[in-house]
Amino acid sequence: MTKIRVRFAPSPTGFVHIGSLRTALYNFLFAKKNKADFVLRIEDTDQKRYVKGALESLLKVLEWAGITWDEGPIKQSERLEIYKKYASELVKKGHAYYCFCEPERLEEMRKEQQAMKKPPIYDRYCLRNLTEEEINKNLKNNCSYTIRLKIPENETVEFEDIIRGKMKFNTDLIDDQVLLKSDGFPTYHLAVVVDDHEMGITYVIRGEEWLPSTPKHILLYKYFGWKAPEFVHLPLLLNPDRSKLSKRQGDVAVEDYIKKGYLKEAIINFVALLGWNPGKGETQEIFTLEELIEKFDLSHVHKGGAVFDIKKLDWMNSEWIKKISIDELYDRSFSFWKEKNFYNNSSEEKKSEEYLKKVLAVERNRLSKLSEVGESNKFFFGDIEYEKKLLSWKNASGEDTKKSLEKSLDVLTNISDVNWTLENIEKMLLEAAEDKRGELLWPLRTALTGEQKSPSPFEVAWVLGKKETIKRINKAIKMM
Ligand code: GLU
Repeated sequence: MTKIRVRFAPSPTGFVHIGSLRTALYNFLFAKKNKADFVLRIEDTDQKRYVKGALESLLKVLEWAGITWDEGPIKQSERLEIYKKYASELVKKGHAYYCFCEPERLEEMRKEQQAMKKPPIYDRYCLRNLTEEEINKNLKNNCSYTIRLKIPENETVEFEDIIRGKMKFNTDLIDDQVLLKSDGFPTYHLAVVVDDHEMGITYVIRGEEWLPSTPKHILLYKYFGWKAPEFVHLPLLLNPDRSKLSKRQGDVAVEDYIKKGYLKEAIINFVALLGWNPGKGETQEIFTLEELIEKFDLSHVHKGGAVFDIKKLDWMNSEWIKKISIDELYDRSFSFWKEKNFYNNSSEEKKSEEYLKKVLAVERNRLSKLSEVGESNKFFFGDIEYEKKLLSWKNASGEDTKKSLEKSLDVLTNISDVNWTLENIEKMLLEAAEDKRGELLWPLRTALTGEQKSPSPFEVAWVLGKKETIKRINKAIKMM
């Protein structure tokens, strides 16, 4: 049996589209599941789209996501001679031809076709009019040329797509595709077929937008006399209004999601479910990469477009923030803390690892993105300001509020430093409150936070530590 081999073949554009990450992930999952080889190939033959540093940022994102490969990165731009050789071979076989048409002529032709509402297809001027001698003369004179694929007339090209079943295309609607450009670089179509063949790729798993290109590839395989791989076209990614996922309606670059503090686990989990599900009756929604490898299967990839629902991503991210360890959460959130003024302006003690980990332990259940750390609990970091009336539970008098605060002060003062644990603080305060929880806990909580809403007074007192807690209660008592 031939070894299963897949590839991820991005064109580096300077950022990684979320759809591109999905293609990489599905190839990776399929490869791992089937103990196949995974090749990373860089399709960088479009010189006009060259972006400096694009390859490095692509590799960084794959590494961040934990998507690894077995071979590559192989750059197409370093294989130009190979594509030239194959393009000439097709000319010799009569399946491709030289085209010397100048861009101006092609432009004019296209305009005419547009005006007449005809498909924009090359009119075969060079194929119909040039003699062998003229072609040779042009080549000798170094005239600029392209090599075009000679698409057969009125034939049906068929292939089996693993997800979509039998696909049929009429060749009359297909342009005589340029295979080799005038700058000597191959087009995507030539390079992709040559490389998938030379690299022994057995499954081509890619986005649906490449489906219309596949008949051209099928013809190329046929003319070269090569066996075509299996084709798997993944469903389009859609905006919530079912238009094609675009920048205009939200971020499409993985880098933007990283910057906003989405965890790799959440992104991978979310992207995996954009077009795939683990099967009927499966209700599990949170998957680790290992679980995805175990469960992934092409037969559960959908045909229909997959809607990118940011609310779902936020939910998954919040679930993952709850799942990772506090040490991990601290490490991964550190860069976000450093961007916040309230953090930078606080004391060394409050900037410490130990303190931040306590804050995170309290906050983690309410965070949907790492960029939000500390934002709704700034009272942990600086002095707090609030109005006296905030301290009173319902219509309690100043005197009652003062008494309540004194009671809390008494309870908390009696807890020693070593016993200052969340469990103890909660237990002692609840015992003291008896059935009048609001009366005791509201003044305490507002005295510690200065906020209408916040985590419980037990959690806040635990994070702040005994000294700071006592200090804040005393300040509130003085206000009354
Ligand atoms: N270079 C193409 C891209 O940017 C690859 C398409 C394919 O996988 O054949 O997505």
